[in-house]
Amino acid sequence: MPLFGLLLIVITTLFPAYQLCSLPNVADQIALFSQYLGLAALILMAWGQILSTRLPGVEAIFGGLDRVYVLHKWAGISAMVAILVHDTVDAEMRGLGRETVLTEFAETLGELSLYGLLILVVISIATFIPYHLWKWTHKAMGAMFAAGVFHFVFILKPFAIGDPAGLYTGVFCAAGLAAYIWMLLPEDMRPSRNYEITKLEQTGGALAITMTPDTKQISAKPGQFGVLRFVGSVNSEPHPFSFSKIGSDGSLRVTVKGLGDFTTGLAKTVATGQGVRIQGPFGKFKLSAKRREIWIAAGIGITPFLAWADALSADAEQIDLFYCVKSRTDAPHLAELEQIAQAKPNLHLHMIVSTEGQRLSAEVITQSTDTNLAQVTVSFCGPVSLRRALQAGLSRYGVTARRFQYEEFEFRTGVGLRRLAQWVLDR
Ligand SMILES: Cc1cc2nc3c(=O)[nH]c(=O)nc-3n(C[C@H](O)[C@H](O)[C@H](O)COP(=O)(O)OP(=O)(O)OC[C@H]3O[C@@H](n4cnc5c(N)ncnc54)[C@H](O)[C@@H]3O)c2cc1C
Repeated sequence: MPLFGLLLIVITTLFPAYQLCSLPNVADQIALFSQYLGLAALILMAWGQILSTRLPGVEAIFGGLDRVYVLHKWAGISAMVAILVHDTVDAEMRGLGRETVLTEFAETLGELSLYGLLILVVISIATFIPYHLWKWTHKAMGAMFAAGVFHFVFILKPFAIGDPAGLYTGVFCAAGLAAYIWMLLPEDMRPSRNYEITKLEQTGGALAITMTPDTKQISAKPGQFGVLRFVGSVNSEPHPFSFSKIGSDGSLRVTVKGLGDFTTGLAKTVATGQGVRIQGPFGKFKLSAKRREIWIAAGIGITPFLAWADALSADAEQIDLFYCVKSRTDAPHLAELEQIAQAKPNLHLHMIVSTEGQRLSAEVITQSTDTNLAQVTVSFCGPVSLRRALQAGLSRYGVTARRFQYEEFEFRTGVGLRRLAQWVLDR
């Protein structure tokens, strides 16, 4: 995660503390601290809204979209904690003026925003809630933010909206509200390109969909992904998929494994000639191949590596690609990968087939590659449990976190409640 993006959020959230400390004639420091927490919560919520827009500059500042969503989650959780403390520690100050109907209404809206957020944040970290329900509760969070903004504007406070502290937080509120309205717009109003499905093919239990652009194409790099909406399908909700092939003619291919309602039913609902709207490209999982590299793919996690393998130049350093699958018939695009590996002597393909008794571990990697792992870069795409196990194992061979990059096929990551529950049960 780029440090700059993280620091930007931290510094902009801390700045009102300095502004409030500079206010003259404020005796009640505890109430002032509570006032600060209210402002900090609004700024964090505004960042949460901005981070969820998927606008081009967001990835440039905060890193790949998967990391952006992690930041978005923690901004929301931190905002909730700040509001809880703001509500608990009395923020009322003497001599700020007379209560009116408007200020009382603003206070009520502040309470509503607190309890609403509390419920919605708990729901949003519960990853077991089906995505389509979760998505609607998540959208309601913006409404709680809007209630918080109303509270901020009309409540009695030790500074005016036109003062530096009011203007500063006001700018964040305006940006957050604009981001929320942007996210409420229909999907078709967001920047996207029209494609048409030209080929459908089953491969290793997955569906490969090749699409050609109607007019303008997306300039995707190998390893990137798009957010695809299949026009006219029963479920036309946009979903993220990595490009498993980027054709020189502008065509794009995605390979989809049935993992839930939408992806399982996709094969029955799509047809050649059908339109697809693609947002993107997104993602920072890019091919470098400047040094000796190890690529590790598990199951459908092979998709970004397929595009990498295709783009790999003959004079690049040696690459060892470990492809973990249940069985060979269950391995999407295996024949294509074998063909690429035959044509490119610097790409070594290692199949790890679990039904043949093979398991991937740091020891297997070091034995198969016969190289000093401290000198290599590792790229991974697959289940989180395998990533954690391999990352821990490889760190014993000198692979640092900086040298281990990965792509998450999941934006909704939770806060580890399942692992916590498992840990408690184990004891
Ligand atoms: C960056 C990225 C790249 C991906 N690349 C591929 C790929 O190349 N091939 C592939 O088969 N899969 C890929 N996926 C996973 C794929 O997007 C999900 O499997 C799919 O969205 C699940 O949808 P579902 O309705 O079938 O399943 P569900 O059971 O509804 O959802 C399964 C999980 O997918 C997530 N999800 C569901 N709907 C959406 C949505 N509209 N937007 C975002 N997340 C959603 C939910 O968090 C849920 O936990 C990728 C995911 C990401 C984040």
